[in-house]
Amino acid sequence: MDAVGPDRLVFSDAPRLVYWELTRACDLACKHCRAEAIERRDPRELSTGEAKALLKEIRAFGNPPPQLVMTGGDPLKRPDFFELVGHGVGLGIPVSVAPSGTRLLTEDAVRSLKASGVQSMSLSIDGATAEIHDRFRGVEGCFMSTMQAEGYIREARIPLQINTLVTAETVAGLPEVYGLLLGLGIMRWSLFYLIGTGRGRDLREIRPSQCEVLHHWLYDLSKTAPFAIKATEAPHFRRVASVRMRAEGFDEAAIRRTAIGRGFGIRDGNGIMFISHTGDVYPSGFLPVSAGNVRQQTPVAIYRHSDLFTRLRAVEGYTGKCGRCEFHGICGGSRARAFAATGDPMGSDPLCAYAPEPPAGSERSL
Ligand code: SF4
Repeated sequence: MDAVGPDRLVFSDAPRLVYWELTRACDLACKHCRAEAIERRDPRELSTGEAKALLKEIRAFGNPPPQLVMTGGDPLKRPDFFELVGHGVGLGIPVSVAPSGTRLLTEDAVRSLKASGVQSMSLSIDGATAEIHDRFRGVEGCFMSTMQAEGYIREARIPLQINTLVTAETVAGLPEVYGLLLGLGIMRWSLFYLIGTGRGRDLREIRPSQCEVLHHWLYDLSKTAPFAIKATEAPHFRRVASVRMRAEGFDEAAIRRTAIGRGFGIRDGNGIMFISHTGDVYPSGFLPVSAGNVRQQTPVAIYRHSDLFTRLRAVEGYTGKCGRCEFHGICGGSRARAFAATGDPMGSDPLCAYAPEPPAGSERSL
C-alpha cells in the first residue's frame, strides 16, 4: 500500500527546500553541530559574485521556486549576508534565514532582514531554561540572546520557526519546551531528531521505542497546537500520523491536505538539497556524501541528474525494511541516519520501530 499515490511523491525536477550554508563561521560551539562550526570564515567560501551566480542558478529550477534557507554556521558572520538575502528575494526566491542566537542578532539586524524581504526566520531552543539550553549551545547567555531575538522578530512581524534538538538527554524536557513555545506566537516547531554526524557523534539518539512514543505525542499535540509541528530527519512521523488519521476517518485526499500530508515524500535528496559553504552539494546537511560542486556544475544539473540524487529518489532501491515497507513512498526513512548507521545511504533508518512484512519465506523481525 502506498497510501497516497507514489507518483506524486517523487520530486525529480526541483527540490522544495534548498539549504545553503553561507559560512561555517559561528560564535557558538554547539554540542551537536553538523557543520563543526569554526570561529573564522573559511577562505574557500563562495565569494559574493559566486554566491549571486548561485542564486540565479537556484532560480533556474523554475516555478514555483524552491524555498531557500540561508543557514550556517552563522550567516551573520558574512558581511554580504543582507545583500545576498536582498538579491535572492529580488530574483523571486522565497528566502528564509537561520541565524545563530548570539549578540550579532540585534534589533537592527532583524529590521534589515525584514527590509530585505525575508519570508521567515528560525531560532534554536533546546531546553526550556537558560541552564539546559546554554549547556547544549556551549555558550553562556545564548538562551537570553535567543529570547531577545525572538522579541525583535515578533516585533518585526517575521514568521518564526523554533528548532529543538531531540536526543536521549533532551527528550524528557520537550513538554516544558512546548509550554514555553505556547507563549511565543511562532509559526512552526521543528524537532530535529539527532543524527550522529559532525559533533553530534558525542550525543546519544533516543531509542526506537521512545521515538514511537514521541511521534504519537507530537501527533496528539498537532491537533491543538497553535503552530505547525515538523519532525526533521524522522519521516516515520508521517507513518504514525497517516495511520492515526485513517483510524480517525480521514480519507486520502483529506490526509494530503493537512500540514503533515503536504510534506509526504520529502526527505534527503527527494525535495531537499543542501549546498555547503564551499559549494559542495549534498542530499541534506546531515548526509555527508557530495554529489558535485556548484563551481563545476549547476545545482539544477546535480539535483536532477547526479547518480546519488536519482538513486535516493527511487525508494524501490532501498535495502532492508525501508525497501519493502508499504510506507516508503510517504516516509522512506532518514537517508542520513541510514548512512550514519551503515555507511550506505540506501539502507534502513534504525530509529524507526516499524516492522514491515518480511520477505516471503523469512521470519518477521525488526
Ligand atoms: S521502515 Fe523505513 S520506510 Fe517504513 S516507516 Fe520505517 S523508516 Fe519509514
